[in-house]
Amino acid sequence: MTERSAQSPPVTAVQETVGESQTEAAGEALGRTLRAGSVALLYGDLGAGKTAFVRGMARGVGADADEVSSPTFTLIQEYAGRGCILHHVDLYRLEPAEIEDLGLDDLIAARGVVAIEWAERWNGRPTDAVEVWFEHLGEDRRRIRTIQQLPVT
Ligand code: ADP
Ligand code: MG
Repeated sequence: MTERSAQSPPVTAVQETVGESQTEAAGEALGRTLRAGSVALLYGDLGAGKTAFVRGMARGVGADADEVSSPTFTLIQEYAGRGCILHHVDLYRLEPAEIEDLGLDDLIAARGVVAIEWAERWNGRPTDAVEVWFEHLGEDRRRIRTIQQLPVT
């Protein structure tokens, strides 16, 4: 993980998707770039496409995307990828104390890849993660804004 620094401003990419499969493709593209210990913080309203994006991320890390659904009964779902495990978390229904108890920091420290829906609910979220913001643009259109810290070289 890298430190936020004045020499490495964040890089923002904005794209618009039409239909779920395009959002999945965007997630897949990000997933391919992720390394052990990478964290993706996902923000946006219900139905904005966060879970669809994670389905693509799973494909991008080489996991079975068909397994990806909204975590309901298990708080953290795990999908085995090529040389990494993608941990998928949805904080929507959780209280702050429950979020602290999930041990997300430990997952990150253990070099997992972690995708977190409703990331704003985790006060202790890392500041050097990839942030992905989802917006409804009506019907099947969504805007996806990705903000990534450049590694300090
Ligand atoms: P979230 O996890 O943000 O609540 P989901 O990914 O579970 O959202 O659901 C998104 C819903 O919106 C799905 O029913 C999907 O089919 C629909 N949808 C329509 N257009 C898009 C799009 N461009 N991107 C993602 N989902 C879309
Ligand atoms: Mg979801």
